[in-house]
Amino acid sequence: MNFEAKPHETTRHIVLVGAGHAHVEALRRFRLRPEPSVRITLVTRDPETPYSGMVPGYVAGHYARSDTNIRADRLVDFAGCTALFADAVGLDAGGRRVLLENGRSVSGDLISVDVGAVTDTSDAPRNNGLLVSVKPMDEFEKFWPMVEQRMKSESGIQIAVVGAGAAGVELALAIRYRLDQMNAGTDKRAGVVLVERDARILKGFPDTVLNRLTRILSRKGIEIQTNFRAFDDERAPGRFGILIWAAGVSPASWLASSGLAFDADGFIAVNRHLQSISHPAVFAAGDAAGMVETPRSKSGVMAVRQGPVLAENLLRSVRGLPLKSFSPQKEWLSLISTGERYAVASRGRWSAEGRWVWYWKNWLDRRFMDRFSV
Ligand SMILES: Cc1cc2nc3c(=O)[nH]c(=O)nc-3n(C[C@H](O)[C@H](O)[C@H](O)COP(=O)(O)OP(=O)(O)OC[C@H]3O[C@@H](n4cnc5c(N)ncnc54)[C@H](O)[C@@H]3O)c2cc1C
Repeated sequence: MNFEAKPHETTRHIVLVGAGHAHVEALRRFRLRPEPSVRITLVTRDPETPYSGMVPGYVAGHYARSDTNIRADRLVDFAGCTALFADAVGLDAGGRRVLLENGRSVSGDLISVDVGAVTDTSDAPRNNGLLVSVKPMDEFEKFWPMVEQRMKSESGIQIAVVGAGAAGVELALAIRYRLDQMNAGTDKRAGVVLVERDARILKGFPDTVLNRLTRILSRKGIEIQTNFRAFDDERAPGRFGILIWAAGVSPASWLASSGLAFDADGFIAVNRHLQSISHPAVFAAGDAAGMVETPRSKSGVMAVRQGPVLAENLLRSVRGLPLKSFSPQKEWLSLISTGERYAVASRGRWSAEGRWVWYWKNWLDRRFMDRFSV
């Protein structure tokens, strides 16, 4: 079955692919400002989509999975849009058609892509334990109960978190906390190791943040191994029961044959209007997009901020109006939780830590989730 935009229709059809952070924000905008002449279809894998800021809290056991998930299905209903819960497996950018699993397809006047990214595990050793990618995050969340089961059943388990960016550090601390909670401190041999290829963890963060988190990691007994190369040696004996892979992101492979222009890392190259530089009828946001004029590191914060501009530009584009520019900030607030109800905050060179930071983060995260409750 194909879902075609009928040629005689005067309404315009916008197809949103993926319920990423920018698209859920865009759907919220469409809900607040309904457009009668525009039909919107969301194509996404699942009726729910995780909010990244709360995922480490889910791993630590502070939140249930339902606390951390945005109900895209309800948002779509409320915005008067249509949802197709299916995996996109291809995109024909020139034909403005999204190919779905089982040979179906959906086409529109405009296509917007916000499908996130995937963890690049091409460097992962095959002779070690259970390999778990942190992205796609929806799959990581679904898989997590199985990981917990293994943590519970294998005494003295060694867990490596690979990639010591903010997400890797936060996950290592959350896992350490969860291990302690699950075993009530009885399995003293269970260990967490944070491994990093570079000479320094938390690349891009100032020394004050590095010092705070290094101290916390060491206090929790998390071993830090920088300049880590042991995985390169295929003969290295399997030391870890679980490998949480948080290093490196790649674009979804099915976008490669779309005909779109990509940035140097293979993400959809977009201009300051979040519009493909090769195909004006295609927009992209979140991790899937590479902002060629104003490159920034990939983050949920950036995707959320893109949402309102993306929504506005999709509507302006169908009406033939000039598009708005997205001006990304150079620095923003970062809140890294440390397992127990404690967190480190930073923005530029300023930083702070404490239980109050965790409660502040929790308040901000819950307030963010409330925006999507319908
Ligand atoms: C552990 C962890 C913690 C993080 N914490 C933070 C944080 O505190 N703050 C921050 O700013 N960033 C954080 N990040 C980064 C953040 O997760 C990402 O940058 C953010 O999720 C990107 O959002 P997105 O809109 O690109 O897409 P995503 O949030 O990844 O969503 C993609 C959506 O598309 C759907 N989808 C994917 N593929 C398909 C397909 N083929 N067909 C149909 N649907 C599809 C998925 O089901 C999902 O709904 C964290 C990352 C990790 C791993």
